[in-house]
This record gives sequence, structure tokens and C-alpha cells, in this order.
Amino acid sequence: MIDVQALRAGQRRALAKAITLVESSLPAHREAAQTLLEEILPSTGNSIRIGISGVPGVGKSTFIEAFGQLLVRRGHRLAVLAVDPSSPMAGGSIMGDKTRMEALSREDNVFIRPSPSGGTLGGVAQKTRESVLLCEAAGFDIILVETVGVGQSEFQVAGMVDFFMLLMLPGGGDELQGIKKGIMELAHALVINKADGDAERLAAITQSQYQSALSLLHSASHWTPEVRLCSALEARGLEEIWDMIVRFVQSAREAGEFDRQRERQGRLWLEQLVQGMLLERLAANEAVRQARPELEAAVDAKQMTPLTAARQILALLDSGERGDDSSS
Ligand code: GDP
Repeated sequence: MIDVQALRAGQRRALAKAITLVESSLPAHREAAQTLLEEILPSTGNSIRIGISGVPGVGKSTFIEAFGQLLVRRGHRLAVLAVDPSSPMAGGSIMGDKTRMEALSREDNVFIRPSPSGGTLGGVAQKTRESVLLCEAAGFDIILVETVGVGQSEFQVAGMVDFFMLLMLPGGGDELQGIKKGIMELAHALVINKADGDAERLAAITQSQYQSALSLLHSASHWTPEVRLCSALEARGLEEIWDMIVRFVQSAREAGEFDRQRERQGRLWLEQLVQGMLLERLAANEAVRQARPELEAAVDAKQMTPLTAARQILALLDSGERGDDSSS
């Protein structure tokens, strides 16, 4: 059982237990998790959700360690979540095994949680979205969601936060930076880390290169993406990054975009859930499973159009489920 009062009071043990419940795939746990989420839903939303992505080694942990301490010094309560896209087949996680953010994890007003493990990226992202809500109900007013720029995970994270930033290295083209088509358009800021020592000059050049690359992108919105320099190791440039985020939130609120973006994200989440559930049903439907090879062969042989085959599959799903209902 989850102690909801302790959760609301911000007790980290209660929060950790609640997240474990949300992450469980046991049907009974899933029911209990949804009941819990519905109960706390009215007290969610009061945070700034920040996404951070970048290739392994760019300095995400170092950045969060230093940036997090700055936020705590300013009186914030910080939750750090992660979306680790590494395949369960590979048997390991890219982010999980090293000891990370040691000093930050000792702070009273900080809650750090590794990525939910296993399952599809969509499943992992779904659990992280729900964990964000739990952290908010527990009074954490800044949520950092970290992900490695591998696969599609940064798109998932960009779709669940208010402010999304890409950490980058000095020098190196898009490929080295792991930048995928489309992700630049989603970033509110590019932050070039390791702008220290010998790399400082190179970092400044990289900054102006990305600045001009970004200026080619549209910017019809209230916010023009910014390119920033920092050194997570030397804790330099971090206050400017926080000031930028505060400015962003202010301007998004003034433009009415802050809530609108969250609504859009919520709708998209709902849509993804519906699609996922439909696909699960299709896969589980016996009549569909049996008819499928024949329909596929008919399409291959040009005896049937794909549309006709698709309609027949859906008709089977419909009739199969009506049958299920009447028998129960
Ligand atoms: P992650 O894989 O993105 O989480 O990267 P880490 O935070 O583990 O950092 C990878 C390596 O880069 C470590 O050896 C860090 O000490 C180093 N590093 C991180 N930030 C900086 C920085 O600002 N300057 C320099 N010079 N090194 C850094």
C-alpha cells in the first residue's frame, strides 16, 4: 500500500514506493497505480519539466550534478528521472551502472531515480510520464528527465517536458553529436559542454556554427532557440542556463503556450495509448491471427488490395470482440 499522505508530504521513501508501483507490470499493480494516479492528479503540474539529452560522454551526469546543486541552493526541490532506451535484449543499460551524481544524491531536497528497465521504449516512456506526475504530487518543483541520444528516446523525452535541451561537445559535426533529423527543431537550447581549458576556443566556434544553423530554422513561436556554452566540470555557465529557462517559462506563459504545449502532449500521449492498446488487441485476437497469413498472401498475389485486407482484419476484430462480450 502507498501512503498517499506521506507522498504528498514529499517523503522520498513513499515516492520511491509509488514509482515502483507505477513501474510494475503486474495487472493488480497496474490497477492500483491508476487509482493512485487519479487520486493525485489534481495536485500535479506544478513544476518545470526539463529534458536533457546528448551522446554518452557528453557530460550529462556531471551537468546534472552541478546544475542540480545550483537549483537546490536556490531553494528548489529537484527530481531527476531517466529514460534509458538500451534494449533489454542487450541485457544492459547505458546509463544505469556507474555511480552517478554522488553529491547531488546526498541532498535532502533531491530525488534521483534511474530509468525503468525492460519493455519497449514506449513502455519505459509511459512509466516515466507517470513518475513525473508522482514527483509533482510530492512537491518537487523541478523535474529533470535525462536520456541518451540513442534510438528515438530523445523524441519521447522532448514530448514530455516543457523545456528540452541538447548537450553537445565542442567541435564535431552533427553525426558525432548524435543529432538526428528533426530533433534540432524540438530543442529549446543547445548547450555546448566542456567549454573549458584548451577546448574553450573550439567551443566558441561550435557555438557560432550552431547559432547560424539554428537561424535557418523557422521560428514562428514565442521562443528562439539559444546556443549556450558551459563547463559542467568547473560549474561555469550554469546560472545563465537556469536564467534562460526561467525566461523561457515566463515567455511561454505570457504567450499562453505553456499550458497549450502540455495539453498537446497530453493528447498525444492519449493517442499513443489508444494506438498501442489497439495493436495489443489485434495481436491477441485469435481470429485475426488465423486469417492474417491468408490475407497477406492474397495481397502479395495481387488478388486483394491492402485496404480490403485491412478492412477484413478489422471486421474480424469487431466480430471476435462482440463474441467475447456475449460469452462473458
Ligand atoms: P554522460 O555519459 O553524458 O553522463 O557523461 P559524464 O557526465 O559521465 O562525463 C563523461 C566524462 O566527461 C567524464 O570523465 C567527465 O569528468 C567529463 N566531463 C563532463 N563534463 C565536463 C566538462 O564540463 N569539462 C570537461 N573538461 N570534462 C567534462
